[in-house]
Amino acid sequence: MPKIRRNPLIEIISINTGCLNECTYCKTKHARGKLGSYPIEDIVERARTAFNENVKELWITSEDTGAYGRDIGKSLPELLDRLIEMIPNDCMMRVGMTNPPYILEHIESMARILSHPRVYSFLHIPVQSGSDQVLADMKREYCIEDFCTIVDFLKQRVNGITIATDIICGFPTETEENFNETVSLVNKYRFPVLFINQFFPRPGTPAAKMKRVPTQEVKRRSRIISQLFNSYHPYNDRIGHKYRVLVTEISTDKQYFVGHNKFYEQILIAKNQCQLGDWIDVEIEAVGKYHMMAKSSWQRYLMNRIRQTLSSMNNMNVNNDNLKKISLSSCVIILVSSILYRIYRKIV
Ligand code: SF4
Repeated sequence: MPKIRRNPLIEIISINTGCLNECTYCKTKHARGKLGSYPIEDIVERARTAFNENVKELWITSEDTGAYGRDIGKSLPELLDRLIEMIPNDCMMRVGMTNPPYILEHIESMARILSHPRVYSFLHIPVQSGSDQVLADMKREYCIEDFCTIVDFLKQRVNGITIATDIICGFPTETEENFNETVSLVNKYRFPVLFINQFFPRPGTPAAKMKRVPTQEVKRRSRIISQLFNSYHPYNDRIGHKYRVLVTEISTDKQYFVGHNKFYEQILIAKNQCQLGDWIDVEIEAVGKYHMMAKSSWQRYLMNRIRQTLSSMNNMNVNNDNLKKISLSSCVIILVSSILYRIYRKIV
C-alpha cells in the first residue's frame, strides 16, 4: 500500500488500485489496470498507525471507492464500518470519489455511515453528463435515473450532505440536446462543488477515435456550465451560523487556516484564533462562492484551548456542559481563595 501524508494531520489511504469500468475517454484505466483491493486488516492497521502518530483526518481514496472489495469478497461499507470503530473521538474520516453503479447497491449503509459523527457528510460522485445517450457512449454503466436516485436518497437521509460532482463538456457524441440535459441536471441540484472539464482526447482511448465536437463549441458549452455554476451561491444564507470545525490546512494564499465542518464545507479562520489540529467553535461572518470565513471570539478561543488541553490530557471528549462546569468551578475556587487571602491579611 502506498504511503501518502503530505500534511502531517491528514493520512490519505488508497484502498484499491484500478477499477471495474472501461470508460471510453479514460487513460487512467490503461495505467492502473483491473481492480485490486487491499485487505481490510491492512487498511485498518495503516489507519491505526496514522492516528497514533497524531493524524486528525483520514481520507479514503481510489479511482472508485464504491467498487472496493468486489474482487476479494468484501464491500466498502464493511471496510468503513471497521475504520469507524477505531477513529478517535477528535478525528474525522472523508470518503473519496465513488462512481454511481456500485454505490447504489450499498446506498442504505452509505447513508448510515455518512451520518456518523466521525465521518464527513460529503461524497464526490462524478456524473460526467446529464444525458443517458452520452453516458452510454462513455460506457459509464449507469443512467441518469441511477445518479438521481443516489443523490435524492442521500440528501433525504444524510442531514446537510454535500454532494460534489464532475462534468465533461463536449464529449464527441454530445449533441446540443444532450448538453441541455446536463445543464438541466446542474440546475436541478446546484452542486456546491462542481469540477468542469472540457473533453480532451487521450491518445489510445476509444473516444480519441471518435469525431470531435469543434473546439469552439466545446469551449462555449463549458462557458455555459461555468456561468450557471457561478450564478448560485450556496453559502449566502450562512452568515451568523455556528459550526464546530476541525482545522487541518493552510489556505493557498497562506493567510488563513482552513477548517471543515461536518459537511466538509471549507471555512477560513484567522491564524491568531486557532492552531492546526484544533477543533474550534466558530461563527460565520463572511461568505464567498467556495468558502465561508469565520471568527472565533477570544472567549471562544480560550474555551477551545481549555477543551483541547483537557481532551489531550485525559483522552476524553469534553463537551460544552462539562467545560462550563469546569470553568465555573475554577472561578469559584479563585474567588474563595482570594476572599480567604484578604481575610488572612487583615487578621495578620
Ligand atoms: S474514468 Fe474512472 S471509473 Fe472510468 S475507467 Fe477511468 S478510472 Fe475507471
